[in-house]
Amino acid sequence: MALTGIQILKMLPKTNCGECGVPTCLAFAMKVAAGQADIGLCPYVSEEVKEKVGEASAPPIRTVKIGGGDHLFEMGGETCLYRHEKRFEHPTGIGVLVRTDMAEDEIAGRLSRFASLRYERVGLTLKADIIAVKDAGGDTGAFASLVTRVRSGCPDAALVLMSERPDFLSSGVKACGDHKPLLYAATAENAEAMAALAKEAGCPLAVKGNTVGETAALSERLQKEGLKDLVLDSGSRTLRGSFEDQIVFRRAATRHKYKPFGFPSITFPCEMTEDPLLESLITSVHIAKYAGAVILSDLQGETLFPILLERLNLFTDPQRPMVVQEDVYPINGPGEDSPVLVTCNFSLTYFIVSGEVEGSKVPSWLLIKDTEGLSVLTAWAAGKFSADLIGSFVKKSGIENKVRHRNLIIPGYLASIKGELEEELPGWNIQIGPREASHIPAYLREWRPA
Ligand code: SF4
Repeated sequence: MALTGIQILKMLPKTNCGECGVPTCLAFAMKVAAGQADIGLCPYVSEEVKEKVGEASAPPIRTVKIGGGDHLFEMGGETCLYRHEKRFEHPTGIGVLVRTDMAEDEIAGRLSRFASLRYERVGLTLKADIIAVKDAGGDTGAFASLVTRVRSGCPDAALVLMSERPDFLSSGVKACGDHKPLLYAATAENAEAMAALAKEAGCPLAVKGNTVGETAALSERLQKEGLKDLVLDSGSRTLRGSFEDQIVFRRAATRHKYKPFGFPSITFPCEMTEDPLLESLITSVHIAKYAGAVILSDLQGETLFPILLERLNLFTDPQRPMVVQEDVYPINGPGEDSPVLVTCNFSLTYFIVSGEVEGSKVPSWLLIKDTEGLSVLTAWAAGKFSADLIGSFVKKSGIENKVRHRNLIIPGYLASIKGELEEELPGWNIQIGPREASHIPAYLREWRPA
């Protein structure tokens, strides 16, 4: 049960020394209760208090880590059923399957697409995260050598090693070096041996039942054996069955604190259909509700990109708009006679406008005003992009030392503030830019200082 700020305050020294970075113990307690600060930031609390608060504030779904070093993939850590209640924490991992019985060119194609299908969007690189290496019969040597090949060809991939045999997984773990793969999977038949291997190797372990009930029983059994990092697979391989199981897992963990389901899940759209489009539809459903990882049969740009965008949209924090820093951004190497544009700091606006300015090839200065992530018209309506605020920002931005002219291009939608802004910025000529970002290149190419 989560502790309230007042309950946490009772365990603090109440000296208000500020060493935790917050001025008072009460404010710190409130932050800890809201999950915005770690109790360990107060140097004066005992280990006992740390443990008590840490346990009470741990998310109902454990965060499980795969990999190591610079390439650590995290799944789980979720605290809510619906995104608007707080936010979703760790984006669903998107993975591709390679098997030991695949033809050479098939494996090479999948690894190459994993490495090359990457997309820049709002300053982020969108890409797949996981490669699942499956033993399809054969010998341990073939399995270990495929793992080695995947590790060296795709070093940033989080690995899932799949075999029913602990000895195969053991050889795969050795081939992973210091990378800690997810071992798939402990079943009713091999649970003890898999648990021993996971403990010895320090790797997370997937739990595969044939039903939700069997998965719960296995999870409980493995926790009793001391395993902490588990990943759930209900065994269902139909869209409806798997979808329902994901909801049962999430609801039981977040609403009822049901410990056997307090772990992220893994699903296999690759085993639910042979139709690539249906597979991407199934994947999309599982990203929305509530898979920690989805394994696809292959990666193709036309299906991967929409899935990545869906994931990006779902896993942004609904209470914090995506923003870029307030600053003066030089684009295309501007000089003293280059045009100066101003817009808001909503990241989508920034990336669209800066992309168009860059595409115009006209050297320009782009002034980004902090509007708390609101877009141009919304920010203006909310009083965060008004003439007085833009005026004072332009004055303190230092742009007057970078250009000889005094022309400022404002977004076309803000034409109505031209007069007010000229009053705020004496000596500046306010020019009204295009309403649509796509018209910026033509505008800039024609632009001349007044
Ligand atoms: S460091 Fe500890 S004692 Fe000091 S203000 Fe923060 S919570 Fe209070």
